[in-house]
Amino acid sequence: MDNDCLFCRIVAGEIPATVVHETETTLAFRDIDPKAPVHVLVIPKDHHPDVVTLANDDPAAAAGLLAAAAAVAETEGLLMDGFRLLFNTGGYAGQEVFHVHAHVLGGEPLGPMLAPR
Ligand code: 5GP
Ligand code: ZN
Repeated sequence: MDNDCLFCRIVAGEIPATVVHETETTLAFRDIDPKAPVHVLVIPKDHHPDVVTLANDDPAAAAGLLAAAAAVAETEGLLMDGFRLLFNTGGYAGQEVFHVHAHVLGGEPLGPMLAPR
């Protein structure tokens, strides 16, 4: 655990979160500032700064994270209409929390993937 990491502190139960799914290695909870009717963050319980370090350092945990995201999409009722799964990674993507997290977004049409240029 990284004591300075917000999401490690959520895993440790030090900061409250609305948990919607949990496995031995993952935790999923609602985003505090939702950008869609369904906006869930799915994280590995172990600290990895981003999806690249997770994939390189612990491929099994990366697979577990994807499986958890798929389970969340199913339990949130997103499979029929579709949803978006994304990992902001680094500065250009605007990553704010450096504990890897998948955003599961859905519940209405989400519009273009990026703002038109
Ligand atoms: P990023 O920009 O790093 O991909 O996304 C970070 C996400 O974490 C944002 O969508 C933000 O709303 C969410 N977030 C930040 N602080 C908290 C918190 O304390 N609790 C929860 N549940 N979500 C948070
Ligand atoms: Zn962390």
